[in-house]
Amino acid sequence: MSPRRLSDCCQTGTMVIQHIAFGQDWHHAQRTGTYDRSTRGASIEEVGFLHASDGPEQVSAVLERFYADVREPLVLLTLDEPALAAAGLSVVREPGDPADPDSERFPHVYGGPLPVAAVSRVEPVVRSEGGLAPDAVGGSDDAAVAADVDALHLSRAITLAGANAATDGGPFGALVVTADGRTFEGANRVTATNDPTAHAEVTAIRAACSGMDTFDLTGAVMYASCEPCPMCLGAALWARVDRVVYAADRRDAAAAGFDDAAFYDYLESPDRDGLMPLVHRAIPEASAPFEAWRANADRTEY
Ligand SMILES: [Zn+2]
Repeated sequence: MSPRRLSDCCQTGTMVIQHIAFGQDWHHAQRTGTYDRSTRGASIEEVGFLHASDGPEQVSAVLERFYADVREPLVLLTLDEPALAAAGLSVVREPGDPADPDSERFPHVYGGPLPVAAVSRVEPVVRSEGGLAPDAVGGSDDAAVAADVDALHLSRAITLAGANAATDGGPFGALVVTADGRTFEGANRVTATNDPTAHAEVTAIRAACSGMDTFDLTGAVMYASCEPCPMCLGAALWARVDRVVYAADRRDAAAAGFDDAAFYDYLESPDRDGLMPLVHRAIPEASAPFEAWRANADRTEY
């Protein structure tokens, strides 16, 4: 049978288009900007369309039927229909069982890979005793969902940190999730690149700014495996990051032999223990650079 347009078969726009994705596949999509999986193990290219569900009931049924044995983290993506249309993709409701035209209909997205920007909401799929619990599906409490998304990103930052520590880097990982949902990752490269500023957070901010072609990450959230040091906190402030979420704290870092806590103490009182003298000498030409800045009509404010 030939696919029909959504408008031919549905009364109103009450449909919620949702897709179950593996967390790893979604992270990969955030790095590349497009999501190309259709369903478990098969790509959109192979299947011809992206498998989706219409609302919590269908999502629960699909989870139970096709994902019950999955142990890897899953996320539920809610797709934005106007954004799909803007990207040249179309949604068609078709029988879930291609061999049975009377079987329950599911939304299928045609036209190629899914732009990450067409995903309006990401929720973790939570497991309960009996397997995959549908109670995480359908958005019970927004704050709880946001917290779970934070946990998912923090978990990724910790994975990056662990992998880095097992090779040639320090035990720190971070990621920046931009306002449009793209993810940029960073790991500590201080010793690997002889760069004392190459902390995971700075590396992630550099990747995000380079990838987004901007110096302003307004609307972004930064996730760090450990509490950012003063330099990284400063970098996040300068990058205009909206929020910073971290897992381990400065005391955990100190216990592992890192100086974060000592540097925070220094900032509170730079002359307390002679760690690094900070000297102010107001020589006459000190303000000349600012005069040059003000005189430059072509300057880019930041
Ligand atoms: Zn740092």
